[in-house]
Amino acid sequence: MTRRKRKSHKNYFGLAAVLIVIIIAAAAIFTLVSHKKTAEKPKPKTKVATSKKPKEKPVPKDPNPVNIPVLMYHSIAYEKNNELRVPKEKFREEMQVIKDNGFTPITLDDLYSHFTNETALPPKPLIISFDDGYKDNYENALPILKEFGFKACAFVITCQIDDSTDFMTSAMLKEMEANGVDIECHTVTHPHLSALSYDKQLVELRDSKTKLEKLLNKKINYIAYPYGSYNSDTVKLAESLGYKMAFTTNEGPANKSQGMFTLDRVYVSNANSVDYFKKQITGEVQ
Ligand SMILES: [Zn+2]
Repeated sequence: MTRRKRKSHKNYFGLAAVLIVIIIAAAAIFTLVSHKKTAEKPKPKTKVATSKKPKEKPVPKDPNPVNIPVLMYHSIAYEKNNELRVPKEKFREEMQVIKDNGFTPITLDDLYSHFTNETALPPKPLIISFDDGYKDNYENALPILKEFGFKACAFVITCQIDDSTDFMTSAMLKEMEANGVDIECHTVTHPHLSALSYDKQLVELRDSKTKLEKLLNKKINYIAYPYGSYNSDTVKLAESLGYKMAFTTNEGPANKSQGMFTLDRVYVSNANSVDYFKKQITGEVQ
């Protein structure tokens, strides 16, 4: 009996010990869990914070691009060993380069407003200009410009209008205008202006302007000096006759600091590759 009794005592203590262990273990688990809970508390907050997408800032328009390439083309037709003539296939490739690199052809009016009123321009603005008024500008360049939806401008020699098979007629000039090609002035007879007297320069700058204004029923505000030739008389005359901007053939992108009547341009020559053209518009070469 005593053995039995002792055994039951033993059992009693054993049960108590197991219970104590269970209680301690439960208490330990409870503290651990509650601790974990408090430690985890900030987590959902962080989760909420990170799940919110950061607000994307809109890409700002460059309100004041300093240098704007004004491309200077002449004829758009092939002629062996004549770098002034860019074949139409190559012209199309160059327009593709303009498009693929995110450039936006703008008008001379856009450039003028930007220079005078700091009007914002689209990203990567440039100007496509043609000198002299070749008939192939109408026949070859215009359909490609329309295809791309590009604006352009042409500086024309007024004595050639309706007087030569190589140059655009009045009707062609009007059609160019109607299709986003701004017709502007390139003098009457295409002389080296700096070699002329003040009076002769006056006739060249004034009569060409008057003729185009009458023909196109609009104000002519811009001129490109033939051969890029000019002197102080030319600049004075251009300003007093009411031109707003004038372009030279000095190489480089246009910048207001050059003076509104002596702006640079980027010469596009058929002697150069399309890859070189890309470097010209991106400013990698000048
Ligand atoms: Zn010219």
